[in-house]
Amino acid sequence: MLIMMIEDEAALREVIEYRLNREGYQVASFDNANDALIAIEDCPPDLILLDLMLPGLQGLQFLDILRQRDQRTPVVVISARTSEEDVIRALERGADDYLPKPFSVKLLETKVKVALRRSSGEETVPGGLLSSGGVVVDLGGHKATIDDKEIQLTQKEFDLLVLFIRKPGKVFTRNQLLNVIWGYENDVNSRTVDVHMAMLRKKLADKGRYIRTLPKIGYLWEVRPGEAK
Ligand code: CA
Repeated sequence: MLIMMIEDEAALREVIEYRLNREGYQVASFDNANDALIAIEDCPPDLILLDLMLPGLQGLQFLDILRQRDQRTPVVVISARTSEEDVIRALERGADDYLPKPFSVKLLETKVKVALRRSSGEETVPGGLLSSGGVVVDLGGHKATIDDKEIQLTQKEFDLLVLFIRKPGKVFTRNQLLNVIWGYENDVNSRTVDVHMAMLRKKLADKGRYIRTLPKIGYLWEVRPGEAK
């Protein structure tokens, strides 16, 4: 598990890094958000610890940019700005949790653990497997199976499936899907999303029904109670 920490106070960085290392996490530390944003491209973290008041790019600006392209990676804000307004603003802009400074590192460890567990989905089983409604995604082995039979998916279809299975019930707009899956690629539009979703649905055969279309809005993955075999 790789944790990215963006914090400009060196002493605090050292303490947190030491404690998280001890818990078995890898930590990549940054004293500013600009460098972190670049590093994220090459080495996407499993979780981000984010200070708000930073030199250069501010924490909330970083969060805005991150959430435009990545809805998934959990962000825990650590900040001395503790008013209710600050907390709500950070959550609304895509933070998963908020820890006011000063805090106990023990509490931070717990928040990290909980945020990681939540992000990996309720149905996560050991070994990097995700499953929902009988569709199993092996993140490590990079394959999807139904009843132990592998489904041949393209990279984009696989990425879409992982995104949906990680957040069952969450509605993704076409624009969000374009941002998250296609990033800054040229020549893509909402039609591209529809075509890929139709293909993914077809390849999932009868499990394809879990991909629900919300006309004019987007898609979600939903396994209704009693519906999964
Ligand atoms: Ca700071």
